[in-house]
Amino acid sequence: MSLVDLPLLPLGKGRDLDAERGVECPGDLPAASDPGLVERARAAKAALGERVFVLGHHYQRDEVIQFADVTGDSFKLARDAADRPDAEFIVFCGVHFMAESADILTAPSQRVILPDLAAGCSMADMARLRQVEDAWDAMSDAGIQDSVVPVTYMNSSADIKAFCGRHGGVVCTSSNADVALEWAFDRVPDAKILFLPDQHLGRNTAVLKMGIALDECVVWDPQRPGGGLTAEELQRARMILWKGHCSVHGRFSEDVVDELRVKHPGITILVHPECTHEVVLKADLVGSTEFIIKTIEAAAPGTVWAIGTELNLVKRLADAHPDKTIVFLDRNVCYCSTMNRIDLPHLVWAMENLVAGTVVNQITVDPETEADALVALQRMLDLPGKSHRD
Ligand code: SF4
Repeated sequence: MSLVDLPLLPLGKGRDLDAERGVECPGDLPAASDPGLVERARAAKAALGERVFVLGHHYQRDEVIQFADVTGDSFKLARDAADRPDAEFIVFCGVHFMAESADILTAPSQRVILPDLAAGCSMADMARLRQVEDAWDAMSDAGIQDSVVPVTYMNSSADIKAFCGRHGGVVCTSSNADVALEWAFDRVPDAKILFLPDQHLGRNTAVLKMGIALDECVVWDPQRPGGGLTAEELQRARMILWKGHCSVHGRFSEDVVDELRVKHPGITILVHPECTHEVVLKADLVGSTEFIIKTIEAAAPGTVWAIGTELNLVKRLADAHPDKTIVFLDRNVCYCSTMNRIDLPHLVWAMENLVAGTVVNQITVDPETEADALVALQRMLDLPGKSHRD
């Protein structure tokens, strides 16, 4: 296996539109201090009218969310965009892989705009196609490739979804990961799963929902020759977890859970399954972003909660539910720094350019990748039961 070079692109110093990274804002980006920004955003949106549909991911800043026509998680937003075929422009306030998914699911005539191309996702960036193809070759060398079914989390680039489409695999969200794993295990005799790119979601789902033993899960490290695994380890494993993680959810730690339980007796710890297995084991409830929102909405007044997910969402939940005590499950500020790249100046800049007839920061997935990715997405849509929220 060859180690893959991953050049760092310091902000403002280059662009790589084929990856979850890149910076480009041609023309004048308004200053964040411009007091007229809110008015300018309103005016640009009004001028575009029905031609524009603004999507806001739950982890976006308030200053951006106020202009969203709809809010949600990445898969819901992509489907919401597909349900608005008349909207010429889909402005996606989220990150790069989400805009790609929206481009895949919307009509060819619709153009998907990401207001800042630096809004990537560190987790999606941890699995590059060349790395995954190297791993796939190693699985062939170990004699197991025919029994491996690749499953990728929604939070991955379009070419990883396409890889799964080409190789009999499926996309999943954090709501339906267990159903996707069940489907994948039934697909071939003695199936093994290659789970991309979030090892934590893969491990938490396999161990806690599917009853797979921890020692049946191995971690493929793309930075190490042979993934750091022997052929025997690959042959014994049932879950081959890609060594990727979310830089936000990976921050939550067991000691803060312990500390909060002492400080707030009776507190309920509610976390996202992208948190580490150790944190999830210590939590009271684990579930997707939609699950977290619904749980807090249904909670009784006076109850006390610590939430382990992105801070913009936790703050909004705390503001919306003053009758409950809601604290953040980390001692420090923990925003998703790439999500936060989408700010009001970038939103204004993107929409004003559209008003002027210039399409900026369009995200397009090439037709071949799109077709293969769609196969894996369609397999997810065909899964029985559960909703597909992440
Ligand atoms: S919160 Fe995590 S998974 Fe979501 S965009 Fe940020 S880095 Fe990626």
